[in-house]
Amino acid sequence: MRAWAVIAPKQPLQEIELPTPEPVGKQVLLEVTHAGVCHSDIHIWEGEYDLGSRGVMKLSDRGVKLPLAMGHEIVGRVVKWGPEAEGQGLAVGQTRIVFPWVGCGSCARCKAEDDNMCVQGKALGVFQNGGYATHVLAPEPRHLVDPGDIDPALAATYACSGITVYSAINKAMPLEPDQPIVLVGAGGLGLQAVAILRAMGHRRIVSVDVSADKLAAATTAGASDTLDASQPDVAKRLMALCGGPVEAIIDLVNGSATARFCFDALVKGGRLIQVGLFGGELAVPLPIMAQKALTLRGSYVGSPKELCALVGLAQGGRVAGIPITRDRLPNADAALQRLRAGQVTGRIVLVAEGA
Ligand SMILES: [Zn+2]
Ligand SMILES: [Zn+2]
Repeated sequence: MRAWAVIAPKQPLQEIELPTPEPVGKQVLLEVTHAGVCHSDIHIWEGEYDLGSRGVMKLSDRGVKLPLAMGHEIVGRVVKWGPEAEGQGLAVGQTRIVFPWVGCGSCARCKAEDDNMCVQGKALGVFQNGGYATHVLAPEPRHLVDPGDIDPALAATYACSGITVYSAINKAMPLEPDQPIVLVGAGGLGLQAVAILRAMGHRRIVSVDVSADKLAAATTAGASDTLDASQPDVAKRLMALCGGPVEAIIDLVNGSATARFCFDALVKGGRLIQVGLFGGELAVPLPIMAQKALTLRGSYVGSPKELCALVGLAQGGRVAGIPITRDRLPNADAALQRLRAGQVTGRIVLVAEGA
């Protein structure tokens, strides 16, 4: 197989030849047809996360080994499978979304299909080779989801940006449809969140970003209100826009600046769901945390159950698509750099030859 792999942090991805894996046990080998380029790939490529005053967290310390084919938003065609996957409805040529947030496969969380909460995460495209390659190995048939009538390029994005926002929305709920829910960040995740909220029947969706173009895209996607965060007093303006302090905010950026205005805008009993990996830190005034009975809750991707639920919700075109730019798999490096430069509205999805 060929892979467009990270060879060294911050160096261009290189096309390399790797042995095509032979599936054993329950494993399933797929031919990659579509691979979304996600913002977290930039952190993996850079090799670190910004932890504010605590320095940086090196991905090598988390067990990320190079060379690595990144790419965790994968759709592929089933090629072959190990003997233990027999009798589970597989057929050669099936198009499937590959759930990438796999764990050890044997702990209580993995067995409960909360694989993304496994403490020994082995995510595809992070800890093992993912979608920037001609082939990918799924650990078990239950990690494969039929996209049904969803365009495979869009379906690929559901494996990360889709379930990430779907899971975060579930944590932010319940809200009445006309109660404001604030989404910080109108990139790929933000637009996906707007589309999913609309499909769930939510009406008051407030999108916050520093880019006028991205806010315009959020409005097109169905956001009811937008706020420009490049100007001062964001918390104050956000509360004015929402008619008072806010019950639920999903911070899809989650950097020092956004976390601070989110925290300041919360109402008593409010919830801040922290999703992005921009980095930095938040100094929490502890008495306010107690007096306002706030919830700060992290959310990391989603589970196979959530991927199935989202794919179900999206059948029949019920979840509007996000803007997708298609590119070829061998252009993975250039695509990553365009995303890094902030030049992408929506998602770039890499498409294999002949797909
Ligand atoms: Zn991702
Ligand atoms: Zn596990």
